[in-house]
Amino acid sequence: MNEFELIERYFAKVGPSRGDVLLGVGDDAALLRVAAGQELVACTDTLVDGRHFPVGTRSDDVGWRALAVNLSDLAAMGASPAWATLALTLPAADEDWLEGFAAGFAALAQLHGVALVGGDTTQGPLTITVQALGLVPAGSALRRTGAQPGDLVYVTGWPGDAAAGLALLEGRLAGQGANRGALETKFRRPEPRVAFGQRLRGVASAAIDVSDGLAQDLGRLAAASGVAAVVRAQELPLSRALYALAGEARARDYVLAGGDDYELLFTVPPAARGALAAAMAASGAPACHCIGEIVAGRGVRVLGERGELPVPRGWDHFAT
Ligand code: ADP
Ligand code: MG
Repeated sequence: MNEFELIERYFAKVGPSRGDVLLGVGDDAALLRVAAGQELVACTDTLVDGRHFPVGTRSDDVGWRALAVNLSDLAAMGASPAWATLALTLPAADEDWLEGFAAGFAALAQLHGVALVGGDTTQGPLTITVQALGLVPAGSALRRTGAQPGDLVYVTGWPGDAAAGLALLEGRLAGQGANRGALETKFRRPEPRVAFGQRLRGVASAAIDVSDGLAQDLGRLAAASGVAAVVRAQELPLSRALYALAGEARARDYVLAGGDDYELLFTVPPAARGALAAAMAASGAPACHCIGEIVAGRGVRVLGERGELPVPRGWDHFAT
C-alpha cells in the first residue's frame, strides 16, 4: 500500500458529504464555503503516542479521541462543527491499525456532521494532529473573557471520571466491575458537549472546555476575564462510580485536577439563569452543576466546609 492508496482507502470519504465542501480530499487544498453571516472557528490539537494516550491504546479509540478533543474546543466556542483536516504521522502502514483508527474517527465525525476535507500523511513516531473548523453566527461565539463578579460557575457532566479511568487503565487506581467499566469508557470515548455548547450562545458570559483539570482551566477562564472564581468543594459533582472507587477526598482531587474531561466549564450572569434552565431542559442536555461563583480579584479558591482547601495542580506539559 503506497501513500496515495492509503489516503484513498481510509480517508477519502470520512463523515457526511456536505454541500459547503467545494473540494475535499484529493486536490492541493480543500475549498470550503462559509455562508454569509457566519464566522469560521478554527482550532487544532495534537495527540502524541504515550503522552496523550497510553502506548498500545486501541486505534479506534485513538481515532475517536483525535477528533473529540478538537470538537470539544469548538463546543467551548459555541460553534457548530463542519470540517476537519488530519495530519497523521505513522511508524508503519499497518492495515489493522488504520482500519480501526479511521473507523473511530469516522464514527464521531458522522455523529457531528463533520466532513474530513484534507490532511497529510507521513512516516515517523505515532502523532496525530487534527484541525477542526466550525461555524457560528457572526458575533455570537463564546469566549473565555466575559465572566463578571456575581456570575455563577457551572460545569457539565462528571469531571474526574476520565482521569480516574486512565488511572485504572494504568494501574494507579484499583477497582472492578461496572464502576471500572464506566470510568474507563469515559477516558476511552470522550463525548464533546457540542450541542450544549451551541445552546450556551447568548446564555453563558464565558466558557472553556476542561482538558487539563477543572481548577486549572477555571483559572484560565478567570485570568482571561480579569476576575477570581470561588468553588464550593461540597458542590463538586462526584459520579457514583468515581465515589465508589476513589472515596470522597480522592474523588475531589480527580474532579479538580484530573484532566481529559472534555466537559464545558462556563459562567452565567444572574439575568440569564432562566435561559440556562431552558438550555438544561432541552432533550439530550448533559447534567449541569453549579459549583461556585465569580468574584472580584484573581485566581481560584476552593472552599471546604471548614475553610479553604489547597487547589491541586492540573496538567502542564512544560511544568518544571
Ligand atoms: P501534497 O503533496 O500536495 O500536499 P498529499 O499527497 O499530501 O498532497 O495529499 C493528497 C491529498 O490527500 C490532499 O488533498 C490532502 O489534503 C489529502 N490527505 C493526505 N493525507 C490525508 C489524511 N491523513 N486524511 C485526509 N486527507 C489526507
Ligand atoms: Mg501534503
